[in-house]
Amino acid sequence: MIAEVIVDIAHSEVDKIFDYACGEEIRAGMRVVVPFSRGTATGFVMRVKTATDCPPEKLKNIYRAEEELPALNRESLFLAEKLAARYRTPMALVLRLFLPAEMRTGKVSARFREFARLSDAQTELSARAKRQAEILEFLRENGEADAAFLRERFGASAVRTLAEKGIISIEKRRVLRDPYAEVQKERVERALTPAQQSAVKAVTETDKTVTLIHGVTGSGKTEIYLTLIADQIAEGRSAIFLVPEISLTPQMLAQLRARFGSAAAILHSGLSAGERFDEWQRLREGSAKIAIGARSAIFAPVENVGIIVVDEEHEGSYSSDTSPRYNTFDVALLRAQYNKCKLVLGSATPSVETYRRAKEGEFGLISLPERINARPMPEVEIVDMRREVKRGNPSPFSLPLREKLEKCLQDGNQAILFLNRRGFAQNVICRDCGYVAKCEHCDVALTYHSEEDCLKCHYCGTRYHMLSACPECGGVHVRYVGTGTQKVAAELKKLYPSARILRMDNDTTGGKEGHFKILKQFADRKADFLVGTQMVAKGHDFPSVTLVGILDADMSLHFPDYRSGERTFQLVTQVAGRSGRAGKRGEVVLQTYDPENYILRFAARYDFEGFYEHEISMRQAMAFPPFAKIVRVMVTSASDPEALDALREIYGQLQGIYARNSDKFLFFNKMHAPIKRIQKRFRYQVLMRLTDGSVLKEIYAACAEVKRKNTLVYVEENPSNLS
Ligand code: ADP
Ligand code: ZN
Repeated sequence: MIAEVIVDIAHSEVDKIFDYACGEEIRAGMRVVVPFSRGTATGFVMRVKTATDCPPEKLKNIYRAEEELPALNRESLFLAEKLAARYRTPMALVLRLFLPAEMRTGKVSARFREFARLSDAQTELSARAKRQAEILEFLRENGEADAAFLRERFGASAVRTLAEKGIISIEKRRVLRDPYAEVQKERVERALTPAQQSAVKAVTETDKTVTLIHGVTGSGKTEIYLTLIADQIAEGRSAIFLVPEISLTPQMLAQLRARFGSAAAILHSGLSAGERFDEWQRLREGSAKIAIGARSAIFAPVENVGIIVVDEEHEGSYSSDTSPRYNTFDVALLRAQYNKCKLVLGSATPSVETYRRAKEGEFGLISLPERINARPMPEVEIVDMRREVKRGNPSPFSLPLREKLEKCLQDGNQAILFLNRRGFAQNVICRDCGYVAKCEHCDVALTYHSEEDCLKCHYCGTRYHMLSACPECGGVHVRYVGTGTQKVAAELKKLYPSARILRMDNDTTGGKEGHFKILKQFADRKADFLVGTQMVAKGHDFPSVTLVGILDADMSLHFPDYRSGERTFQLVTQVAGRSGRAGKRGEVVLQTYDPENYILRFAARYDFEGFYEHEISMRQAMAFPPFAKIVRVMVTSASDPEALDALREIYGQLQGIYARNSDKFLFFNKMHAPIKRIQKRFRYQVLMRLTDGSVLKEIYAACAEVKRKNTLVYVEENPSNLS
């Protein structure tokens, strides 16, 4: 037999099929060890066939297979080929997505343990062998025991003697690491509300592959997903449930375990390498049927998928911006089509692009406008920070917010204070009048670049002089850099010395475990106030939180991104959704220098429809996605001349495409990336705005042609960050 092998080396030179001779035991999807160049390499068997064009004297033999059950199933191979072609990425890189990293590097493998039991042999023990008698007694009572446990308790020699005499037998068996052994497994039974029932019915009965569930925060979407998943499991099919990493909280995990027991395998970054490997293995073998995890779980090795759920579909984390770049929705759709199953997207604030596709009938659309038990949405008060500046209040807390914080403390409730992580984008906002410096051509906020002391538009490269005073009101407080969580927590402590304050952001949480710990402390009411960045915004269900303060809504509003309005609406809605989830009425204070801003106004009224209508007409007018496609070809290298050289080559190629299709280009130019150097790599870009995606294939192909040792060339579609 002949195997077609992709060697596991991520280099375009070897990104092709190599034929090897093999025995009958080799099957498609297996990882194999092969002779390669002058050494050996690991590879993936893509196909097995009977004939090859390779001359017999050149055909080498596969050395061995790495495992009996092929690591990749047929669907994985099919998807890998599609994705490699779609994103023009070397096959080896794409195939790696389908395996736990630990498996490739060989750092973990299955765990084995020894178990001891009584055998049938009846031999008399000597009267002095007290320990041995105790072991037999123990095994008679318990049937079977972990050999390591027996050795520790009764002594290794006693166990060995019994085994040698054949009185007990010791068997080595594979055991699985159970990462959630300790979580509570109590299931709360509840009947679906009529709205939930009709949502389940609608998804099941529609003939559309994709359905969007647009339900306000607290409308009970999770219960709908779990019911849909349970229904498919009952049919003997499997399921994939994707959530943003941040929502894999201990409560969420406990809920999933309670509902599905060991049928659910949970893949997330908080697991140890061994645990992740075992969870993956259970899916591959079919003993677990539900893959739950963040973005990468879309590659889970489940077969006969009956449903795919993507919760919080608007989350930016669903597109991978490190190589290999992919969009989770693209992969999910491919899998849904392959398995002929439904793909459900859910969100309280769907992305403008998704919502448009649903409104135009491409996707099914289900709306859940009310919270469970008709609980009211918290009331949002917009506070004008310009007035605070005039009043001489320089602190990050406005007076209205301070009053509410005091009341919250007195009543024994909890509050969340939210700060924008993106405060690092240096905007120019006039703190006296709220004026924001924007690009004349692009209507996107300008970014201050200190090294050149100028303002830049990340969408067209235009440079502007830095302002010394506001052109609207003449005020001089025009540079606004956000405050950090540390400073806010310190100020808060000064105002309320008796308050217990927790702080949570990327710098302070010490990894995933750390932030679980902080959330748990807050949930256990060990603190009154939680100060945090984006990670406090989402998913959490803290019944005692009655107040949410959004300290700097502007930071996200003026981020240099065409989606900044959309992101702000999402953020405000999500953060506000943390308030008043249980019986108590919730409140939200939203602080801004731009209180008239339409996005904030719509968000304060929870008017998604109004926001959407406004936003979509703006996008159309400005030719932003979904009415155009922003494409950036990035060239980065540690050597400036090499980067420039590659840029010249790729620009030449792209110019050819541009010349042949100029009607499809709204913008085309090469330039320095706004940030010229990141992590010692020089950065250049060709920025394009296209009327549609029809020339993308050619662009990807052109980029794949540029082959340099130390220079990276890659394509970004509608990137969320153009710095
Ligand atoms: P969403 O995901 O839409 O934000 P959740 O699924 O978190 O909403 O549900 C909001 C709250 O309502 C949760 O506390 C949940 O336990 C509760 N809930 C959901 N469905 C029901 C139901 N059918 N009956 C009673 N309570 C429910
Ligand atoms: Zn511009």
